[in-house]
Amino acid sequence: MSGYTLAELSRLLRERAISSTEIVKSCLERAERHNGALNCFISLFPEHALEQAKAADSIIAAGKAGPLTGIPVAHKDIFCTAGFKTSCASKMLDSFIAPYQATAMAKLDAAGTVMIGKTNMDEFAMGSSNENSFYGPVSNPWDTERVPGGSSGGSACAVSARIVPAATATDTGGSIRQPAALCGVTGLKPTYGRVSRYGMIAYASSLDQGGPIAQTAQDAAMLLGSMSGFDPKDATSADVRVDNYLDALNNDIRGLKIGVPREYFTPELEQPISDAVTAALSLLEQAGASVIDVELPHTDLSIPVYYVIASAECSSNLSRYDGVRFGHRCPEPKDINDLFCRSRGEGFGDEVKRRIMIGTYVLSEGYYDAYYLKAQRLRRVLRDEFRAALDLVDVIVTPTSPTTAFPLGSRIGDPVSMYLSDIFTVSVNLAGLPAISIPAGFSAGLPIGMQIIGNYFQEARLLNVAHQYQQMTDWHKRIPGGWQL
Ligand code: GLN
Repeated sequence: MSGYTLAELSRLLRERAISSTEIVKSCLERAERHNGALNCFISLFPEHALEQAKAADSIIAAGKAGPLTGIPVAHKDIFCTAGFKTSCASKMLDSFIAPYQATAMAKLDAAGTVMIGKTNMDEFAMGSSNENSFYGPVSNPWDTERVPGGSSGGSACAVSARIVPAATATDTGGSIRQPAALCGVTGLKPTYGRVSRYGMIAYASSLDQGGPIAQTAQDAAMLLGSMSGFDPKDATSADVRVDNYLDALNNDIRGLKIGVPREYFTPELEQPISDAVTAALSLLEQAGASVIDVELPHTDLSIPVYYVIASAECSSNLSRYDGVRFGHRCPEPKDINDLFCRSRGEGFGDEVKRRIMIGTYVLSEGYYDAYYLKAQRLRRVLRDEFRAALDLVDVIVTPTSPTTAFPLGSRIGDPVSMYLSDIFTVSVNLAGLPAISIPAGFSAGLPIGMQIIGNYFQEARLLNVAHQYQQMTDWHKRIPGGWQL
């Protein structure tokens, strides 16, 4: 059953051509067969999944099924799943069983999806290669010696290797879009506030946003429709109507105005990626869109601004892991300071510690104005530039990542080169905008991602453009060689 899209599985279930139990068994079998090589799952829940599948089959038999009833999904291990281990890929939470359900999870449960397992990720979602996981790195299904991207590397890998039709993920600075690009799948980061953050373990609260990873824009639309919506339990959740994303997919794109920022075509951008995006733009022009230059002049400041703000917020968010209330506690503490220091020293990995130290520094007296306040001012400048550009055009198209998947180990010793992997994605989070990454070509056998950025709450338009592009191309249908069905 692997290889089918979510939409195809939904149709087969509705036609009773197959049962959810059969689909789920095949997913579990595939997960068990390939997880040794790919390491994309931290946990698998076969018994629970089969129970949920059985329940879904009765709902289908009773004629009460929705489009997602009986569809298997995997969840990034950052979402709290009541009664199940939720580790955030950290030793700190290795034995943490979530006491409640994240809203996005509860919504997908209510829609009838089946949870197969929890996916691997960078510890606390900090990273761009999935090499910062307590559970070891994830491999890219297109070349197992290369990274899948991060931090949602496990979710992107599991969809790319056709283990699950779709997965949930989160994006603070690119963690849905960059791994989607590097693994050749479709990933959507919604507008800030579109998907509830309740029960999504916090990294940088003003930037974090959950969303779907799937094979196609159509599948992402199905998942997003169920995950989204106002949640009184999240103070930053937006009380904005959820559009019917499926209805919008087939809208005509004739007359669509696409902005292309020159600032994104930097010398670091690999030529085949630049060529692929240019070719995709020509195709969209042939379909009736027009391409216009737009300016985002402060793009080069987005990485420093992001790493000041994200680190500042993480240092505050992660102060809750103190050995008293959550997670890892050191053995035999001498006193309260020893308890704090050793529990945190033992529980967090190197990158998390680096971010906490940077964040504490930029928030400290004397440096706050110079770094944090300045970064906040520049954040507004970056947001205003996007707003001005989006007054002129409907969407902005850019590459998702400056390079294709890089070799495991090649950037891990050089944090700054790792941070530069997110050069085209972080400013979207700083502005709070929605953006989607879709497959747009290959370079030396590795997938290339194209990013489409839209105005606030215009996910429907992004999905529409992405879907129309996918009707004209087959990049999203290619399956990595080693994991053929
Ligand atoms: N790679 C970026 C970081 O390390 C973004 C991560 C994310 O989006 N969660 O912060």
